[in-house]
Amino acid sequence: SNDKPVILIPGRINPRVRERVEAEFEAVSLETADTGLLDAATRDKVHGIASMTTIDAGFIDSFPNLEIIANFGVGYDAVDARHAAGRGVMVTNTPDVLSDEVADTTVGLLLNTLREFPKAEAYLRAGRWAAEGGYPLTRLTLRGRTIGIFGLGRIGLAIARRLEAFGLPIHYHTRNRRDDVGYTWHETLAGLARAVDTLIVVVPGGAATANAVNADILDALGTDGVLISVGRGSTIDELALIGALSEGRIAAAGLDVFADEPNVPQALIDLPNACLLPHVASASVSTRNAMADLVVDNLGAWFAGRPAITPVPECAHLDRKPG
Ligand code: NDP
Repeated sequence: SNDKPVILIPGRINPRVRERVEAEFEAVSLETADTGLLDAATRDKVHGIASMTTIDAGFIDSFPNLEIIANFGVGYDAVDARHAAGRGVMVTNTPDVLSDEVADTTVGLLLNTLREFPKAEAYLRAGRWAAEGGYPLTRLTLRGRTIGIFGLGRIGLAIARRLEAFGLPIHYHTRNRRDDVGYTWHETLAGLARAVDTLIVVVPGGAATANAVNADILDALGTDGVLISVGRGSTIDELALIGALSEGRIAAAGLDVFADEPNVPQALIDLPNACLLPHVASASVSTRNAMADLVVDNLGAWFAGRPAITPVPECAHLDRKPG
């Protein structure tokens, strides 16, 4: 009855994405990214996908007329973008609009990890201040630390700018040295870990970074070492981290991301020197709305015949909808 492009929404999505897709396109929703839930006629009609879930090669191949996958989130390790590119399917993500929010969260997580503010608040709320006296002095502090950032991209740089203002020296590891910053580059992650006592991990997930932060890297931080992880859980060897935290080989860790979300290992939950957040780094209404708008605006640009606004690097050459 109308000629609006059909956009599939598999799994959970931000409500603003759903509202706008329903208003501006013909929306088809799926409980999960399982093509078995769709008949062939519906699969033929799908021209776009808006998602924040796993989109693998088989799922992509089950839509013969698919043109674009708009991923909610800057990290798109859940989408097989290389396979999509090979099929001529555009993939977009949501860079920049969340960088400041995620950097703010990272600084908060770092301070909470070092100065134990969540535990101090719990102490007050439990009536222990009045009953037992002041909260114990924290062993750890941000003062005097040397910061290492693994991944000095959009978010890593926003974190670096903040911690530079806190008066701390900044080191980093990326594959390519940046020529636009004065921070100290290390060619290897091990070299970075040896040079710093505070390692902030904000690289993308995927095979290239899987378990990169292992026991050797953690040991290189030293017994006052602190790990902060806000990129992807897959980058951290969680068993090695649990070992290092429980044996005191590093001092503490603050984590927003985990290998098997939303399942967090009980051993991690039981550790007093782990500060844990449920993947909330970008999770304010305003930032999530900006991400939602970028998802739908990418779809809008594409189906209007304009270039995608924020193509992922694997798909940048696809530029715009053919014809
Ligand atoms: P960018 O692409 O701007 O930055 C990625 C950085 O990582 C670059 O400096 C890149 O440099 C470096 N990098 C990539 N691969 C490697 C590698 N194998 N070894 C060393 N360095 C590497 O991404 P953003 O800063 O925008 O986002 C980073 C990640 O943060 C996202 O992919 C996402 O997974 C995560 N994230 C988590 C959020 C949360 O809620 N916790 C919210 C938002 C993002 P080079 O290419 O030179 O190596």
